[in-house]
Order: sequence, then C-alpha cells, then structure tokens
Amino acid sequence: MQFTALGGAAEVGASCMLLQIAGKNILLDAGIRVNRRGDESLPDLNKLEEIIGDDLHLVLISHAHLDHTGALPLVLKRYPTVKVYCTLPTKRILEILLEDTVKIMEQEAEEDKSEVPLYNREMVERVLWVLQDTPFSRWFQPIEGVEVYFHPAGHVMGAACIFIKTAEGTVAYSGDIATVAQRTASGMEKADFFQPDLLILESTYGDGVHANRKTEEQRLAQAIAQVIERGGTVLVPSFAFGRAQEIILILKSSILSGVIPKFPIFVDGMVRAICDAYTDLVEYLPEKLRNWVKNSRQLVFWNRPSKNLPEVTKLVPTERIMMFNPKPKCIISSSGMLSGGPSVYYARVLATDPKNAIFLTGYQDEESPGRRLMELQTGDPLVLEDKEITVECEVNKYNLSAHADQIQLCQQVSYMNPKTVILVHGEWHAIQTLRRKLVLKHIVLPAQNGETIEPTRQPEWISDYTLQKIEAEQLTFYGTLETNDEGITFRFDKTLLNSAQWKQFFEGYTEVKAKFMGKWLHVRGLGPDEG
Ligand SMILES: [Zn+2]
Ligand SMILES: [Zn+2]
Repeated sequence: MQFTALGGAAEVGASCMLLQIAGKNILLDAGIRVNRRGDESLPDLNKLEEIIGDDLHLVLISHAHLDHTGALPLVLKRYPTVKVYCTLPTKRILEILLEDTVKIMEQEAEEDKSEVPLYNREMVERVLWVLQDTPFSRWFQPIEGVEVYFHPAGHVMGAACIFIKTAEGTVAYSGDIATVAQRTASGMEKADFFQPDLLILESTYGDGVHANRKTEEQRLAQAIAQVIERGGTVLVPSFAFGRAQEIILILKSSILSGVIPKFPIFVDGMVRAICDAYTDLVEYLPEKLRNWVKNSRQLVFWNRPSKNLPEVTKLVPTERIMMFNPKPKCIISSSGMLSGGPSVYYARVLATDPKNAIFLTGYQDEESPGRRLMELQTGDPLVLEDKEITVECEVNKYNLSAHADQIQLCQQVSYMNPKTVILVHGEWHAIQTLRRKLVLKHIVLPAQNGETIEPTRQPEWISDYTLQKIEAEQLTFYGTLETNDEGITFRFDKTLLNSAQWKQFFEGYTEVKAKFMGKWLHVRGLGPDEG
C-alpha cells in the first residue's frame, strides 16, 4: 500500500491524494487552493502522472467543496475514461460550483489578459457526464477487487467519509467531518463497524475546541439584532455552500421563535443557486428541517414577509447598489473569506461606517483578506481586491464551524481504531497538536505534499516496544463463555496465546485473579505469593 498527497497534506486546500492499493491507483478528491490563481491553485498533477502514468483506475469524491473538487476537470482531461463516484447531493451541488468557477476564471482572464482559465465549460460538462452518484451507507464494487462505502460525514449536505476494502488492506478517508448536528446536515454517524488498517484524517481544528454550537448561534443572532437596532447593516460573508444556508436558517428560526426582532435578509452571490438546489434535495436534509418544510409549505430558504417570518430575498446584480441605503438589514453573501464575489463589493462600502458590522463565521485562510480583517484594529487600512479602505465598522468572529474539533476528531479515531493514521487537511500547528494526542495509541504519520509513504510498513523511528503497545491497542480477541455446575470456562483460540501481550503477562501462570471494573472483567495472572 502506498500513499501520496498531491496536495492538501499540511494545508487546507487542494486536497488530492493518491492511494495505491491491491494493484489499483485510486485518487481521493481532486481539489484546488481556493485563494490562489492559475497553476498555484492546483495539486501536483504532474507528480500524479509521474507515479501512475496512464493508469488511474478510480476517483472517489468526499464532498462538493472546491478544495476537494476544483481540479476534477483537469484530472478528467488527462484521464478521460476513469470512473468517478460521489453521492447525489455532491453531484448536484458540484455542478453549480464548477460552472461558477469557470465563469469567474473567464471573467478574470478578460480583466487581466495574463490570466489563463484553467478549464472551460466543456471540461466541466465532461465531469458532470462522467460523475456517477452512489447512495450512502451501502458497499459497492466500482472496480474489480475494490469495495467502497460512503458513510455520512456531517459537514455539509452530501458529505461522506469513504471506506475502502481490498485484499491488500482497508482504508478510511475522512474527507471533512462534523460530529455536531447542524441545521442542514446531521452530525457524522459513529463508524465503529469499520476498523481500517489506515485512516486518512482531516485535521482542520486538530488544535482547537469549539464553543457550544447553540450558544454561538445565539451570540451571532443577538449581535446581528443589536446592529439592526442601532440602524446599521450587517454583512455576513459566507461560504456559498453549507455555511450560508446555516446562517439563513439560524436567523429565520431566531426570529420565528421571537428571540430577536424581525428584519429583512438579503442573499447574494453563488449562495442563491445553492439555496435553490437544496429545494430539490429536501430528502437529504435532517428530519427536523424536512418536517418544517413539509408542514409550513414554505420553500427551505426563501419567503415573503409574514407575521412571524422575515422576508428572505435573492438579490440580482442590478439591486446591489440598493443595499447601501440606510435601512437596517442583513446581507449574506459569498465569498466567506472576502477573497472575491459580491461580499467584497459590499464590504468595501459597509466597512467604512461604524454603524455597520461585518461578522465572519468560518475558517479564514492565512493569506485571506478575512484573516487580515479579523486581526486589525478599528481605523486600520484593509486592501480588498486592490482597493484600500479604512475599517471603521464592528468586526467579530463566530465559530459555526462545520468541522470536528480536537476532542471530536479523537473520538472518531477511537471508534474506527485504525493502526495507522495519516493526518492531512490542516495547518502545521493543528496537525502537530492532534498528532501528539494520537501517538500513544496509533502510528501517526506526517504527510508532505509529493512524498510517498508506505503506511503499513513499520517506520524506522518507531521502537519495537512502542509498536507492541500500539498493536495491543488494536487487538481484540473473541472467545466463548461456558457455564456449568463446576463453574465458568472462557475459551479463546491460539491467536490470543500467540500474542506478545499474552507471552508477556500470562505465560507460565496457572492461576488468575479477576475483578469487575464496571461492566468490564479485568483478569491478571496470579503469582505464587499473591492472595
Ligand atoms: Zn469541506
Ligand atoms: Zn475541505
């Protein structure tokens, strides 16, 4: 088994990993770095070709976010006959995201002639044509000798952890995971039924512990209500897929339940098309929201003003200028890191007035304007798409993360109990912190972009003693229990007898001592002098 990260190893972006297993070359995700342009945004597809030549057998996509899918058109250009699988919501949403990406690339090429689009509409169409959707929670065999299972991962609608079974071994690729239930995606389901040899795990918040979700949602709703009350406008720059939908629903339900007063909500950017797509994918939403849609006979996101519900309106470009009128309102618009899209257009004007506010709600890339905005003081300058402005408005950050935090990640690892873990999709500090939490129970391998690892071979730096300890953590023995008039007999086969731990702790003993610890029965060898 060999693993090569072509992108997305010690970074959040361009997730694209090659798994070579059972004689097959499998690509896990094919993403881009969303804040970079041109070749810099891409995973190392030359390296891919260098390693596998013409033989790519399978591509598996965890979810639709561009950091996992944006390079798919290029992969399919090079490997036009490869099979590609994802869930149905992922396919539907991906169609919108890729078409929008092409539009932006074409626009940028028009504005700056040195910029060449990475791909065009035909290439995107090819992706949509080749993509096969597959249901959640069912094993299937996309190519000979490889069985695949898409396990609900929380995170966003359609997101899956990908489980792979082959004769050479088993692998789980987490994709992006969230264990806490959101309004548009239930939390990741416990995956204790699949214990892979290798787990490739995201580490976005490997060094963080999230604030309570409900508290954070209330804090955001209250803060927006306060700005509205003082006559200001709130801009919430949001990722078009996932976060924006969550925020609309948080505000709608806070208003509906009377926690905050009613105010108009405007939605702009790609968020609009994604919200529309959710309408067709209602069956993939959590039960609570599904029932609300059914009973209220409302669309999931849009509605006219009613007694209890705020007006939620899709903006068209000609209406944008109207958002600078002094009427209080909330605008939810992509992009989430202020790196492009209408959110930049609004921020440039709204940020200069202390009455207004910009509230950030998601991961801010190290080099993004959103990160810079979070770090600066009132009155500091900020450059947004080549234009410098002075930031006078209120700025705050709310943690509505759609990623598991350190504790939640460790919990998922303990359910799957893999022997080896490769940490990816995180900044260096997050990966190192998470690594320290996992090393005593698993072999944790650091990954570097472009470096090939053999995950099932014992690394030179690990001592036999540590390896034995880790192996002990992985081992479970199943036996039988017999009771009769004489007493109890536990019977295990020879695999227990042959384990290093048995040899170390039980060999030579003829008597044992047992003690209950809750529902566990702890047994140890009893020496001749012990009572
Ligand atoms: Zn994601
Ligand atoms: Zn991601």
